[in-house]
Amino acid sequence: METLLLGMFYIFSLYAFIPGLISRLFGFRVFKKGISDHEIALTFDDGPDPVYTPQLLDLLKRYDAKATFFVVGSSAEKHPELIKRIHDDGHLLGIHNYKHKTNWLMRPKTVTKHVSMTAKIIHDATGQDAHYYRPPWGIVNLFDFTKRKDLQLVLWSAIFKDWRARVGSDKLTKRMIKKLRGGEVFLLHDCGTTLGANANAPHEMLTALERVLEEAKRRGIQSITIRDMIQRTAQAKNDAHSASAEKKYSQHKRGVPVLPRYKRVLVSVWLLWERLFHFIFNLQTTNNEDSMFFFRRITYSGQPVAMNGGGILVKGDPILELHFDNKKLFQLGTKAKSSMHLAIQLIRSTQKALPEIAEYIKSHPELSDVKALYGVSMINRGPEQFGFTIADLPKGFFARSTKFYLRLLMSVIHPSGRERVRSRQEEMVPKLIVIPTELLYERFAKSDSHCPPVTSSKQENQEEQEKSDTGLKASMPC
Ligand SMILES: [Zn+2]
Repeated sequence: METLLLGMFYIFSLYAFIPGLISRLFGFRVFKKGISDHEIALTFDDGPDPVYTPQLLDLLKRYDAKATFFVVGSSAEKHPELIKRIHDDGHLLGIHNYKHKTNWLMRPKTVTKHVSMTAKIIHDATGQDAHYYRPPWGIVNLFDFTKRKDLQLVLWSAIFKDWRARVGSDKLTKRMIKKLRGGEVFLLHDCGTTLGANANAPHEMLTALERVLEEAKRRGIQSITIRDMIQRTAQAKNDAHSASAEKKYSQHKRGVPVLPRYKRVLVSVWLLWERLFHFIFNLQTTNNEDSMFFFRRITYSGQPVAMNGGGILVKGDPILELHFDNKKLFQLGTKAKSSMHLAIQLIRSTQKALPEIAEYIKSHPELSDVKALYGVSMINRGPEQFGFTIADLPKGFFARSTKFYLRLLMSVIHPSGRERVRSRQEEMVPKLIVIPTELLYERFAKSDSHCPPVTSSKQENQEEQEKSDTGLKASMPC
C-alpha cells in the first residue's frame, strides 16, 4: 500500500501536480492574462461545431471582434471548411488535442501525437502552422513544457461555466460583464458535446456574448487574438521594465535580495506540500531545530550498485533514503552571495549532518540492519569526498522526470538559478549516491573521533574542488 502511495506521489508530483502548480503560480511558459487598456482576448474551446461555430463567426464579424479558437482535432478533421473560415475571417487557430481527453491520463507520446495530428489538420485547411496550445481543462503535465518548444501554452484569466446550459444567458452576461476589462483572457465554448457539457449550452453563450460585445463597444473595448495580446503584453512589460530597471539596480547594489512575489508564493506552497509529504511518509530527522536532511527506512529496489568499501547494494536491502530539507536549502540559497558560497555552506551542513545521522542509526535498534544511506543528487563530483559512491540512475521515465524536476527546483532556489541551469545543462544530471552504513560509521561516528572524518586541510581541498563544481545537491522528492 505504501509503495503504491509513494508511486502515486512520485508520478503526480513529477508528472502533473508540480508542473501544474508551477504553470499556474509561476506563469512559466504559460500565457493566461495580458496587459492592455482597451483590449480583451476572446477564446473558444472544443469546436468546431457545425451548428454553433458558424453562428459565432457571424456574430464576431458584426462586431469586428477577433478571437482564438482552440479546436479539437477530430472535429476539425470532419469540418475543414469551418477551420478555413475561422482563418479567413482573421481569427487565430490553436490546438486543443485530437480528442477531448486530459493529458493526465495519456502517455507523453500520446499527447505529442494528439498535438501533431491536430497541427497537421489545421495546416492542411489553412496553410498555416499552429503555435498555440491549450490542453483540455487546462491541465498540463511536464511534457507540455519539454516537448514541442515551438508551442505556447495558453490558459485563461476569466471562466464562466458557459458549458452548463442551466447557468442561462442572463447570469452569463452578468458574469462576463464583471470581467470586462483590458487584458482579460475569456474562456468560452462553441461546442457542447464534450464530457460534462450540455449540448445546447453554446446557445446561451451566444446570446450572452452578443450583449457583452454590445457593452464592450460602448466602453471602447475590443477583442483581439491571443497572438496580438501576447505581443501587446510583451511591449507593455518592456516599457515598464525599463522604467523600473534603475530602481532595481540600486536595490541590487545595496545588497537587498530581490525575490519577486510570485516566487515567494510558489516557494511557500511548495514548502507546505513538502511538509505534507514528510507527514505522510513519516520522515525523521536528527535535529528538528536545524535539520539539513530528512530520512526514512525503505527497501532498495533498483539495479545492483558496487559501493565504496566493497559491498554491493542489491534489491531488497534495507536502506535509509535521504531527502534534503528544502526549507533549509531555500534559506541557504537566498542568502548565498554566489554559487561557490552556497556550495561551501552545503558542504559544511553535510559535514555536520552525517555524524548526526550515524549516531541516529546507532541509537535506533530498529535501524540496525540498514545497509546504506541513499539519495539522489545533482552534484556529480563532491559527495565522493564523504565516501559516497555515485552511480547513474536507471535510464527511463523516472530518471528523465527527476532531471527535469531537480532542474526546476534548482532554478527556483539557486542564486543564479535559471542562467546556471541553462549554461550547464550537460552537468545537471541527477545521480544516485550511496554510502554503506559501515563506511558511514568508520568516517563519521563518534567512536572514531580520534580519526576525524574530514580534516581541516581536506576541508579546504574540498572547498577548492567545489569552486569548480558548484552544483546544488537536492534529493527528491522535495
Ligand atoms: Zn475543452
